[in-house]
Amino acid sequence: MSRVVIIGAGHAGGELAAALRARKFEGSVTLVGAEPSLPYSRPPLSKAYLLGGADRNELLLRPPETYERSGIDVHVGCVATSLNRERRVVVLDSGVELAYDTLVLATGGRARTIYELADAPNVFTVRTLEDVDRLRKRFHAGARLTVVGAGYIGLEIAAVARALGLEVTVLEMQDRVLARVTAPPMSTYFHELHTEGGVDVRVGVRIEDFEFASSGEVTGVRLHDGTLVDSDLVLVGIGLVPSTELAEAAGLHVEDGIVVDSQLRTADPAVYAIGDVARYPDPTRGMLRRLESVPNATEQARVVAATICGEPASCTSVPWFWSDQYDVKLQVVGWSADYDELVVRRGDGRHLSVFYLSDGRVVSAEVANNPAEFAAAKKLVATGVVVDSTHLSDPQFSLRGLFPRSDTAV
Ligand code: FAD
Repeated sequence: MSRVVIIGAGHAGGELAAALRARKFEGSVTLVGAEPSLPYSRPPLSKAYLLGGADRNELLLRPPETYERSGIDVHVGCVATSLNRERRVVVLDSGVELAYDTLVLATGGRARTIYELADAPNVFTVRTLEDVDRLRKRFHAGARLTVVGAGYIGLEIAAVARALGLEVTVLEMQDRVLARVTAPPMSTYFHELHTEGGVDVRVGVRIEDFEFASSGEVTGVRLHDGTLVDSDLVLVGIGLVPSTELAEAAGLHVEDGIVVDSQLRTADPAVYAIGDVARYPDPTRGMLRRLESVPNATEQARVVAATICGEPASCTSVPWFWSDQYDVKLQVVGWSADYDELVVRRGDGRHLSVFYLSDGRVVSAEVANNPAEFAAAKKLVATGVVVDSTHLSDPQFSLRGLFPRSDTAV
């Protein structure tokens, strides 16, 4: 009987184990995770959970009893330390050896940090439940929080911190917030949103060094212009380092992620990689890409489950993502790398959409606070219909009018 071993009990690993059983896979399924928890949802970590509006158990992807009932053998709090591809065996830190016929690496990644701050007790990154539990203990009204990095996680945490009454300064070295992930009009929107929320947002700044107390805690962040940002705690939100060590040591191709083909298989046909750690060929543009999002982890888990069950599949969905900050939901779809026109659509209140066009077709869109418009944007990207940008920019013009008459169910 076939044995599937999954390393990494995060979103991708957890979804894969469940998807195999949902497909009536009859072999053994073993899920190994370094964290003490069963698979849980990470997005609430920088949102409702940090705010105190969600319970630890509510974050679990599935109730604990599901695993036993489905015959999924779960080892949490266990690290896979080596992989012998010739013998098809994974070794755990406990010394246990797990033999496999198919191995799936779903090892995700860890938060990037700043070397000089690694040992400071009041410096935090957020990737795991334990990270947030530690951070929450320091989230007191009036405390001065300095956030390094104005990406999604940094800004989400800044918004929660304001809601809890902290004084927040955000430091970003690029000349705008969310520079890596959104268009300039959307950056301006979020910069203003945070400024209105009482955050001191500073873009285009370079950190020179840090000041420490004798306890080892950081007390201030010194900027290149000499300014000192006094800090009671520091949150570093500067991205993710994919956890590729196991794959690399086993001689698999690693290049900012584990390189896989369109079926998420490595050069070793018995080994797959999925989720944040996988670098796979973009079906439309051919180049390799790595995506850090829940929809991506879920789709890849389902694709690999199908392939293992004898129905080879590959990723076809258009990527999408969301972020919640204050009362604003930002939703993003598609790839914004290749475009020749940017169209801005401003609605009432806090509605803003930005569309990226290539040869008259929408290839990506960012939509703030308008789920209906996002549904239409997703469909525009998926169908690739040619659109008139003057219609697209006109908030009075219904996006339904951009689809052929027979295809207006948006
Ligand atoms: P992970 O969830 O990182 O899981 C990998 C697991 O593998 C970890 O538990 C790790 O400990 C384990 N592991 C690693 N190496 C080993 C080993 N050698 N042995 C055993 N176990 C190992 N996405 C969205 O789409 N929308 C959002 O709003 C959003 N918000 C987010 C907010 C935060 C704070 C964070 C951290 C992420 C957010 N994401 C969001 C991203 C999303 O959570 C990730 O894309 C998703 O969790 C990826 O799942 P994964 O299984 O690939 O990796």
